Amino acid sequence: MTYDTVIVDSHVILPQGMVDKNIIIDEGKVVGLTNELPACDTKINGNGLISVPGPIDTHVHYGVYSPINEAAKTESHAAAIGGVTTMMRMLRLGDPFSSSLQAQLDAASQNHYVDYAIHASIFTPQQINEMDYCVNKGITSFKIYMNLGGEIGHVYMDMPPNSSELVAANVDVTDEIVEQTVKTAASLGCPVLVHAEDYESCGCGIQTAREKKQDGLSAWSESRSPEFEAKAIKTVSKFGRDYDCVIYFVHIGSEQALKQIQEEKKLGTKIFVETCPHYLTLSYEKQDGYLAKVMPPIRTENDRKAVWGALSTNQIDTIGTDHVANQLKLKLGGDDVWSALAGFPGIGTVLPIVLNDGVNQNKITLEQFVRFTSKNAAQIFGMYPQKGTLEKNSDADVTMIDLRKEKKVTSELFGGFSDYIVYEGRNLKGWPVKTIVRGELVAEDFEVIGKLGHGKLVQRNIDRNS
Ligand SMILES: [Zn+2]
Repeated sequence: MTYDTVIVDSHVILPQGMVDKNIIIDEGKVVGLTNELPACDTKINGNGLISVPGPIDTHVHYGVYSPINEAAKTESHAAAIGGVTTMMRMLRLGDPFSSSLQAQLDAASQNHYVDYAIHASIFTPQQINEMDYCVNKGITSFKIYMNLGGEIGHVYMDMPPNSSELVAANVDVTDEIVEQTVKTAASLGCPVLVHAEDYESCGCGIQTAREKKQDGLSAWSESRSPEFEAKAIKTVSKFGRDYDCVIYFVHIGSEQALKQIQEEKKLGTKIFVETCPHYLTLSYEKQDGYLAKVMPPIRTENDRKAVWGALSTNQIDTIGTDHVANQLKLKLGGDDVWSALAGFPGIGTVLPIVLNDGVNQNKITLEQFVRFTSKNAAQIFGMYPQKGTLEKNSDADVTMIDLRKEKKVTSELFGGFSDYIVYEGRNLKGWPVKTIVRGELVAEDFEVIGKLGHGKLVQRNIDRNS
């Protein structure tokens, strides 16, 4: 028979090690790895490139500052150029899911270049009651924001499709809501993603810092101390143990948070840990201006090194970007750190950053790279072995990497919604040069050549007995 595609002459990185084999692809699936060259319609010449299972970005905010029908186009474009084959959206809706979710799903369905999946944020008791409704719609993971409550419960929700108005809201994510979300998720067999910052402590910290007229990213970090992360980690881990729920800590970037998580694991809590590229690359000690304002804040050089240490020893499971598709005019609204918007884009730069700073500096191996960017996420979020591997019958999501390619980062490179990037001008070595999603070449050499609408919502499994 004649297969659709064969990728020849690349080094294929599997979680267990590197193999030099051809990848046979048919009908969007991996048929097998072989030393033969079977008949095929398309031959992709790897020329010694590295092939990895399609990277999964576990943490992407899009649809907040532009509606999802637009944001899916621009941000999946950036994802494709950055070598990401599956993007996981952090959906934030203020209304009940029964009245607002379907329109979001419909608007997303024809507008992605790469595959996507959705985590649903939970803010209200009514939304807790609708978690099974989400599961029936294919959303099998839930997010809670322990930073949003009291005086600091302001948040922008995702816009309705085709809108252009920001949706400002006030929410109060109390410990009661956190506990009920964990309890319900456990009963559904779903993991809970946790933004762990204690809102009461952060509220006080911010007030004190502003009264003292402090400014800059150091003040931002001090006002939301790692202690407040540790406090929230402790609270939610107890709920996780009580209800036997899998807790996934998003964007961990401080030594103290990492230490607290180790303590909670020792007590038997089922925990997975995500970090973000910015905690591996930036510290307030070396970063000026307000562009790198993010929650939780970037910390010290010491913290940055601790995150690398935790990553290289596999205490961290995934690297998600916490990508926020926003723009400069909104980002820098006032003239101090307090009025700047938190969050920045990062889906295009995650691979080159981890390749440049990690793999090419021998801090992590290529096998670890595959686990942190793909395999672990697929397993945690019910997509394995469909995603996260290149074994027979898995989706043919393959990103091909040139470890020696050097390029300067610019925001224009990715074609996303954002008109800035915190890594502007940084020279990085190690870039994705071909992005293949279910057998289709979607991006090549920094150009998207795929079809809009090729990206599909990933069908996920849940383990009801977990
Ligand atoms: Zn986030």
